[in-house]
Amino acid sequence: MTAETSSAGTTGKIHCEFCFHRCRLGEGKIGICGVRKNLNGKMITTVYGQVVSAGVDPIEKKPFYHVRPGTSTLSAALPGCNFQCLFCQNHAISQYNESQYALSGSNTPLTSPQKLMELMLGHNLEIMTYTYSDPVVWQDYMLDTAKLVKEKENGLNCMITNGSMTHQSLIGMLDYIDAFNIDVKGNEEFYRKFCKGSFIPVLNNLERISADGRAVVEVTTLVLEGEHTLDEIYWLGSRLRGAGVKVWHLSRFFPAYKMRERQATSETFLNAMLQTASESGIPFIYSGNSQEQLFTATVCPGCGTALIPTHSYGGEAGISVNKYIRDGKCLQCGEHIYGLF
Ligand code: SF4
Repeated sequence: MTAETSSAGTTGKIHCEFCFHRCRLGEGKIGICGVRKNLNGKMITTVYGQVVSAGVDPIEKKPFYHVRPGTSTLSAALPGCNFQCLFCQNHAISQYNESQYALSGSNTPLTSPQKLMELMLGHNLEIMTYTYSDPVVWQDYMLDTAKLVKEKENGLNCMITNGSMTHQSLIGMLDYIDAFNIDVKGNEEFYRKFCKGSFIPVLNNLERISADGRAVVEVTTLVLEGEHTLDEIYWLGSRLRGAGVKVWHLSRFFPAYKMRERQATSETFLNAMLQTASESGIPFIYSGNSQEQLFTATVCPGCGTALIPTHSYGGEAGISVNKYIRDGKCLQCGEHIYGLF
């Protein structure tokens, strides 16, 4: 199964318009992501329908703390990514190429968008999350599924992404994606050194999503001790605030992929980063991959009430929301609480 998405020019080479790389590909060539290909003058997604992961997760695990807390979602992934982060925890499916697909993927039964949506409904779920690899590179499959999910009562689509889609792609997504969690990794130097990516396209997209106003956006930064500094995190926080970001998760790094020799980020360092992040003016700051109970609560910016004392994975957040938030407002002071509650 393939999906055609753009036409050939007169040179025989064509551009893929899915992400900021805008790969220009000759006949039979594959882009940087390993899953987009010029086949007979058309760009196709070679892994269309090849769902390599589909499972039920608490929405907090994604992480989304401001999207129906206490509920669950079906998390689904196809292979491929347009970055090459040295610390990727999902490299087995993100760093993909066609030869792998030929060896292993050809026996994988294909899952149509309709079938994936039915799987979600079969678990009595209303939220689909596109995640694990980067849905930017299989956005055609994501959008075909998202359209079906949106037709269902209370259906929501969430995307976990590096946020490097083209502006044109983003416009197509905003009609169907209700919430984005965008990984913001560091400054431009960090992106180039560790990810083969770029900061500016991501920041531009954050600004566009915020200005559009339809989708909720949460940002996650994996804090790498010895690389990120307090000054950088403060600088990043002010850039994110300027882009309209209201929710920022800072998570501890654990050794993975090509950075297995590095030490995990300590709780002490993460806490220092969280304190600095909280001075950036972003109203909701949360810790991730941490055993400590700091920066775990959703606190009303108006009156300081702990609306959700902790975001565990057991559904308690949903119970708390019913007690403290009504129609998206704090029951104590009436302050609007950012997100989908
Ligand atoms: S998705 Fe990005 S990396 Fe992949 S072919 Fe298209 S432009 Fe290139």
